[in-house]
Amino acid sequence: MSVAAYAVIDTAAIKHNVKTIAARVPHSKIMAIIKANAYGHGLLVVAEALQDTAVKAFGVARVDEGMQLRQAGFEQKITVLEGFFDQQQLNDCIDYDLDSIIHSKNQLELLASQPGNDKISVWLKLDVGMNRLGFKPHEFASIYQRLEQCAVAVKPCGLITHLSMADSVAGATTSQQIALFKKTVSKLLGEQSIANSAAIIAHPDSLTDWVRPGIMLYGISPFAHACELGLKPAMSLHSKLIAIKPINAGDTVGYAGTWRSQKRTHLGVVAIGYGDGYPRSASNGTPVLVNGGRVPLVGRVSMDMITVNLGATTRAKVGDPVTLWGKQLPVEEIAANADTIPYTLVCGVTQRVAIKKTPELNG
Ligand SMILES: *Cc1c(COP(=O)(O)O)cnc(C)c1O
Repeated sequence: MSVAAYAVIDTAAIKHNVKTIAARVPHSKIMAIIKANAYGHGLLVVAEALQDTAVKAFGVARVDEGMQLRQAGFEQKITVLEGFFDQQQLNDCIDYDLDSIIHSKNQLELLASQPGNDKISVWLKLDVGMNRLGFKPHEFASIYQRLEQCAVAVKPCGLITHLSMADSVAGATTSQQIALFKKTVSKLLGEQSIANSAAIIAHPDSLTDWVRPGIMLYGISPFAHACELGLKPAMSLHSKLIAIKPINAGDTVGYAGTWRSQKRTHLGVVAIGYGDGYPRSASNGTPVLVNGGRVPLVGRVSMDMITVNLGATTRAKVGDPVTLWGKQLPVEEIAANADTIPYTLVCGVTQRVAIKKTPELNG
C-alpha cells in the first residue's frame, strides 16, 4: 500500500455486528442506517457487506444517497430519513422506489397534489421532543387522516420517531418519549419504528416492528462510557512514518509550539492530518500505534502530518506502519482525547483517504 493514508473496512466485522444486533432484537426487523457514506465506511462497500444478512432495509438521509444505491443495483427497501425536500425529489423517490419520511406540511401538500397512479411508501414522523423533524402529538391524528387521503401514498403509512436522549442512561426522558410515541399512535394502523443504536442497547421498550441501528453496525458504541457490547470495529485508519527526528530537551514541536520536550527524544512524523480527517482537536498524549505499540501524539495536528514521541531509544524506521484507530485502538478512545464523539471521526475521513476492504488486502 503506497498511499499515505488509508482506511481498511472489515466487512466480516460488519456482518458479525448485524448478527449481534439481530440477537438483541429477535422480534424486530433491521433497517441498517448507511447515511453519510455509511458513516465514512463507504456506502457501496457497506451495502454490499449487508447483502444476505438479517438486514431487511437500508436507511439513508438524502434522496441522492438512495438513488446511488439503486444505480448500483441494490433492490432492498430504502428509506430516506429526511424525506423529499421538493417536487423533483418526490419524483425521484417514486422513480427509484425510495420510501420517504413525512415530517412537514410542505411535504404533505406535494403528496396531495401528486397523481394517484404513482405510488410511494411513507413513514409519518412524530416529534417526541427532539424538536427537529416531525409533527407534534396534538396534530398527529389529523395529519395521519390527511395522509390517508393522499392517493399516491401506500396505506397504511409507517409510524416513526427519533429519540433525543437515548444515549444517556440516566433520567426518565427516554421512557417518557417512548410512552408518548406509543400513546399517540396506539389507535393508528401501520408499522412502528423508534430505536437507534443507543435505544436498541439501553431501552428495550423502544423495540417495535423496525429498529434503525447506525453506529453499532460499524462496531462503535453510542455511549460515552466504555461498555462491552460484543461488537467489532469495522474501520481502521492507517498511515506510516515518513521521518524520524532526534530533538533536545526544551525543543518545541509543530505550530505554536504547544508541546515542549522535557528531555532528549525522537519524534516520529506520520503522514496523516486533519486533511485526512484525523481530528485537529486531538490533544497532546492521544495514543497512536507505531508498529502496533502505543506512543503519544505531541504537538498540534497539522493538515498533512502529525508528530508522535517515539522516546529516547526507538527501533522505529521510516516507512513503519502507523494506526490511528482500529481494533487495537478504539475510535471511542480517540474521540475522548479529541473532545468529540466517534461519529464525527469516522464520518470525517476525507476523500483522499483510500478505502480498502479486508479481502482486497489478502489478494
Ligand atoms: C442516524 C439515524 C439513526 C441511527 O442512529 P445511530 O445512533 O447511529 O444508531 C436512526 N434513526 C434516524 C432517524 C437517524 O437519523
